[in-house]
Amino acid sequence: MKVIVVGSSHGGYEAVRGMLLENPDAEIQWYERGNFISFLSCGMELYLEGTVKDVNTVAYETVDNAEKDGVHVFVQQEIASIDEKNKSVHVKNLADGSERDESYDKLILAIGATPRRLDVPGKDLENLYAMRGRDWAIKLKQKMVDPDLKHVFVIGSGYIGIEAAEAFAKAGKEVTIVDHNPRLLGNYLDSEFTEKLTQEFKENGVNFVGSVNVAEFVGKDGKVSGVKTDQGTFDAELVVETAGVIPNTSLVDGLLDLDERGRIKIDEHQETSVKDIYAVGDATKVPYAPTGELSSIALASNARRQGRTAAANAAGRELKMTAVSGSSALSVFNYHFASTGVKQDTQEKCGVKGAESVLIEDWAVPPFVSEEAGNAKVYFKITFDPTDGRILGGQIMSTRDVTANINTISFAIQQHATVYDLAYADFFFQPGFDRPWNIMNEAAQAAVRKIN
Ligand code: FAD
Repeated sequence: MKVIVVGSSHGGYEAVRGMLLENPDAEIQWYERGNFISFLSCGMELYLEGTVKDVNTVAYETVDNAEKDGVHVFVQQEIASIDEKNKSVHVKNLADGSERDESYDKLILAIGATPRRLDVPGKDLENLYAMRGRDWAIKLKQKMVDPDLKHVFVIGSGYIGIEAAEAFAKAGKEVTIVDHNPRLLGNYLDSEFTEKLTQEFKENGVNFVGSVNVAEFVGKDGKVSGVKTDQGTFDAELVVETAGVIPNTSLVDGLLDLDERGRIKIDEHQETSVKDIYAVGDATKVPYAPTGELSSIALASNARRQGRTAAANAAGRELKMTAVSGSSALSVFNYHFASTGVKQDTQEKCGVKGAESVLIEDWAVPPFVSEEAGNAKVYFKITFDPTDGRILGGQIMSTRDVTANINTISFAIQQHATVYDLAYADFFFQPGFDRPWNIMNEAAQAAVRKIN
């Protein structure tokens, strides 16, 4: 069997690894149009802040390693078109200009997405950056040490914008981050959490402005010097645009069924509308555990689960994509937070109505352990369906890293567990780590009281 995998990021990497596990005898060809394979944008902040020194190590895989495992890797080679009737792809070698066709038995598309850029006057000025992939990582890193750069303007306060803002603030730059949502991280956390994080940003020199619409990039000598918005003009010698992504699906437009936003439609086995063509990652949607509906959640964790699922099905096994809840975690200076599933403030966006929540504030470990010894306040919110107690979401934040609790909530959602199940669930107690009732027990018990 000959399998072609297109795209070398999270989805493509996992599809290749999955195929090696499922069918070690398969001939695997792996294509990437960029000049580097499997760069992890997830590791970009670690590189920008200097925790990781070498940009080339921010990757899952090297060409040599993959080839040692029998994978044929083609870098700087783009899949330009697909002939589904003859089961072949047309390959353009971007390095030497040559072209050829390659046949396939199974084709796995992990072609991902590209940062969305604002279509406003001044969009062609220099120093308007994006933050995705190795090339942007290198360019951003150079800017961090540019003494002429004083003001950085970040558009979009999702995870990527937050990472950009924090990295540039730590590099000593004056940072403004804006969003058209009124709250930063508004899709990830409710207001009790985002208020604290906005304050945390402020104390560390990052100015957040919500409900902003960008009108124009203002320039001087061809370079950006400011950003005009409906809330005033801001100085900016660098703009980082992190306002969403656009799926890279022009390759399959007219061939595969796409949704209204151009994402590839897939079934529960990751197969597209054309037999033997699978698609995974940010160019697709995922099954959302709280509702059972498909949802667009651009995460590496999802892409990898989809990649493994596609590989298993392409190899002839039957495997359904697991339902996911958008579980994610991040730090903002001293705070660590994580969330999963439905939030109280944005439940309608997730297709949910009538959800209720309980917020608990308590110490991470028994109060006899001082803050100097590592104790810290923990804020935990559970969201549930009051009609049957089903758990729909969870959010946690603390200056102590307690984010892993959210994985338990994610699993609870996936398993359709209720606050009744969680109220007395068995969790360890050791005063150095936790309390006799874990904060999830406490919140679930409060939720049960609220329902009754
Ligand atoms: P992409 O990463 O979009 O990659 C697609 C690849 O396919 C590209 O390399 C592209 O060059 C190649 N390609 C496309 N078309 C062709 C073609 N025709 N021929 C050949 N090659 C082609 N997610 C998390 O879960 N945790 C995190 O901590 C996290 N942090 C992030 C931080 C940043 C700064 C960013 C930008 C994203 C982060 N994400 C995180 C999200 C995660 O990176 C994406 O969800 C993930 O990259 C999606 O992977 P993908 O395989 O769909 O494709």
